[in-house]
Amino acid sequence: MIPVIAIDGPTASGKGTVASLVAGRLGFHYLDSGAIYRVLAVAAARAGITPSCAADLPSLIQMSWSLPVAFQGERVLLSGVDVSSEIRTEQAGLMASQLAVVPEIRAGLLQRQRDFRQAPGLVADGRDMGSVVFADAKLKIFLTASAKVRAERRVKQIEGRGQQASFQAIYDDLVARDERDMQRAVAPLKPYPDSRVLDCSDIGVEQVVNTIIDWYLN
Ligand code: C5P
Repeated sequence: MIPVIAIDGPTASGKGTVASLVAGRLGFHYLDSGAIYRVLAVAAARAGITPSCAADLPSLIQMSWSLPVAFQGERVLLSGVDVSSEIRTEQAGLMASQLAVVPEIRAGLLQRQRDFRQAPGLVADGRDMGSVVFADAKLKIFLTASAKVRAERRVKQIEGRGQQASFQAIYDDLVARDERDMQRAVAPLKPYPDSRVLDCSDIGVEQVVNTIIDWYLN
């Protein structure tokens, strides 16, 4: 069986950075499952579809089964068009989390995520990697950090892109998104009984990566 390391946790916990570094060190493939939800949000917005409108639900579900998303290294493509920056906006993230509460949408995106499991191995990050998508993962990590630390990191990320960010707005959005991810009936965000919780509020990326690799190899 091709090994999987599942790294789940709340938004801006550093999952993406950590997961791609772990994948690089082990020579594994990397799946950013949140990017797939975000691409769906961008595709829906482009089609003028809003997640709160019940009449739009069948189209959204249909879209989730046939989403023309592709990954090219760091680039994320929707129908061949680069949407790497567009999917990173707070608006896309918020909409993604609204779409993610619909079980039929999650089902539509399931196989697409499982297709990333290729030799020699996969590091997958998201919310339900260890519970649903790769329930048989060899190692399951729940990577977390305080909301304050995560909001500060997000602000730095946004400012690093030359954009302006308000800490309070980012913090409030993050707490709202956590709440929705934790309270939802399908794939709620929480550590599973067989996951190892890693709080990275006070430790650096390198140490987090080393810890995960150590757990995986031993
Ligand atoms: O991880 P990221 O913030 O990019 O994900 C955006 C949103 O997509 C999350 O807030 C979450 O609601 C949803 N998501 C999910 N399951 C995943 C990945 C992301 O529900 N595996």
